[in-house]
Amino acid sequence: MAIAEEMNEGGRLLKGQVVKLDRGYPLVRLAQGNLVRCEHATSLVKGADLRAVVGDFVEISIPEGHDKGIIEAIEPRSRAFVRKDPTERALPQVLAANFDRVFVAQPLADVNVRRLERELVLAYETGADVTVVLTKADLAESEEHVTEVRDRVKALVGPDVRTLVVSENDPASIEAVRALVPAGATAVLIGKSGVGKSSMVNMLVGSEIQETTPVREDGKGRHTTVSREMVAVPGGGFIVDMPGVRGLGLWEADAGIGAAFSDIETLAEHCRFRDCRHADEPGCAVRAAVESGELSPERYASYQALKQETVELRDRREEARRMRGEKASDARKPSSRKPKKRKR
Ligand code: GDP
Ligand code: ZN
Repeated sequence: MAIAEEMNEGGRLLKGQVVKLDRGYPLVRLAQGNLVRCEHATSLVKGADLRAVVGDFVEISIPEGHDKGIIEAIEPRSRAFVRKDPTERALPQVLAANFDRVFVAQPLADVNVRRLERELVLAYETGADVTVVLTKADLAESEEHVTEVRDRVKALVGPDVRTLVVSENDPASIEAVRALVPAGATAVLIGKSGVGKSSMVNMLVGSEIQETTPVREDGKGRHTTVSREMVAVPGGGFIVDMPGVRGLGLWEADAGIGAAFSDIETLAEHCRFRDCRHADEPGCAVRAAVESGELSPERYASYQALKQETVELRDRREEARRMRGEKASDARKPSSRKPKKRKR
């Protein structure tokens, strides 16, 4: 890369990792451990429209007399959590990069299955290990209730995904979570506002590092600053809480849907047509399973809706591309997709 070479001749590029985004400015921890607030090199933003996110490995320069560093290059991401930019028509938005695990948090006493399915799709799509954490277990009516919900969620997520149960007033419950964030590992925590993510982080860290906020009925108007940050777990790795993630629009999601709905994709292998859309085609094994009661109509509807969301998004991207006068298409035909196995 031209810029990097130039910099290497004169000054020196320093390697570091973005550990926080603060009012748009990435905070970079250098290999030596010191923290530098940075801005992006114009070439990154203007050219490729690239912006560093939490977890990104970057190369920075610190021009003489400057109090801020300049991010000159962002290393390729091993993993990225991507959703559709809620403010744009058809653009992706990366929320975090280079993590090993995604925790999906849902309140045990109030699991939202439809939201959980969507969260699982996004989590699986990253290729990271996925763990479901059922929070606020103390709000359950009884031990039986806890077991019943856990079993229900386990049935939904499949045998390969761990399902943990935590409660703020049971410090021991967080240990299973801690064990999944060993030294060198980074985990990302997603879940609706108010499900107890900050409380979990505080339990992991052992102090009030994340400000918790009482939940408001409308879920809006939280006064806490929303910043994404890599928080060090004492004796372990890092956890990134993703507050303020209200919309979870799908971006690329075929692999994620395949993993989150592997039961349906397995059924679909028996559909008469390879590109069956499970709508009104004859010989559809998926609809047959709904009719026989093997597959719940809600889960089928949810699958179809998420699929449709990706189809519409692809159409819009195609259209945007056509309007820009490009021709190449990244749209994959449904028939060429192979059902993927669940990843561990
Ligand atoms: P976040 O928005 O996901 O970060 O959620 P918070 O951690 O801020 O928690 C939202 C609310 O739920 C706060 O009032 C917490 O005190 C409460 N809360 C968090 N964890 C628990 C728990 O285990 N049990 C109970 N009863 N309340 C909890
Ligand atoms: Zn079918």
